[in-house]
Amino acid sequence: MRPRRIHWAVLAFLCATWAAAACDATSQGQGQGANSVASMPFDAARAWTHLEKQVALGPRPSGSPANDKLKAYLEDELRAVGLAPVRESFRAKTPVDETEFGNVYADVEAAPRKDGKPAPLVILGSHFDTKRIKDFEFISANDAGSSTAVLLELARVLAAARGKGPVAYRLLFIDGEEAVVEWEGDDNCYGSRHHARALEKSGELARVKAFVLLDMVGDKELKLHTDTYSDAELQRIFFGAAKRIGLGAHVDGPRLEIRDDHLSFMNVGVKSVDLIDFSYGPNNQHWHHAADTLDNCSKASLDAIGRIVLAGLPELERWALK
Ligand SMILES: [Zn+2]
Repeated sequence: MRPRRIHWAVLAFLCATWAAAACDATSQGQGQGANSVASMPFDAARAWTHLEKQVALGPRPSGSPANDKLKAYLEDELRAVGLAPVRESFRAKTPVDETEFGNVYADVEAAPRKDGKPAPLVILGSHFDTKRIKDFEFISANDAGSSTAVLLELARVLAAARGKGPVAYRLLFIDGEEAVVEWEGDDNCYGSRHHARALEKSGELARVKAFVLLDMVGDKELKLHTDTYSDAELQRIFFGAAKRIGLGAHVDGPRLEIRDDHLSFMNVGVKSVDLIDFSYGPNNQHWHHAADTLDNCSKASLDAIGRIVLAGLPELERWALK
């Protein structure tokens, strides 16, 4: 992902727009939703193991053998918790070649509805590819490893509630978020753009109420930015949940305009939020650097983000059902 450099006048206008949106947001109830997901524990030790397994594969850029191994790992782990993973393979031209990409996703169905209509769908996503870097071995623990690990553990927790809740979930593991060369034009977000288009083509998009993106959530000093692209109401739901469960220190970070996979979904009209800490090490110097290692991540941070997401889901469900 990239912070966007824009003209200050544009920024001022956008800030005013978002401030207005935030003022319009009404306060929601804070109780538990019909789905019991929030009462199930997030197991940070499992998430940490998922992170270690990814790092052990070495660099995992799109189109590489290690990326393929990771896709197989994701599918095995999803099957192990009773879900049915789908591989969404496609080829796309990058500035330097044509690359084979592949998203992996699995759905957690909602309880059958009396009206026979499909339940609303909420997509929880994380990219799993790592940036192609030639100068050093980029194992990228935080930038893709951490959020992928957390999403896998969330899959286990959510799978246990399948067929019971009012909202269906899609766990979407996204390939090709990283720019192959430079974050310009279409050289980024290959997998999320592909998935968003596929939703449009199939007509399934009408069911999708929200996209919740996790990225760079393993920093041992975890503080989520207030991304100004994100939907203000969705951001309030998760930041509010964090404060309610005593994890408020990890949210309400500086306002920053962050370009990431959520923009692919926003471009097709899906309200989206990016839960991201884009300040990794002093001056973000560990980002896309050899210092993006397990040592600079922590199990406590994976635990915090996992618990924040689960705590926010009951309110998100009520919001999605409106
Ligand atoms: Zn990155």
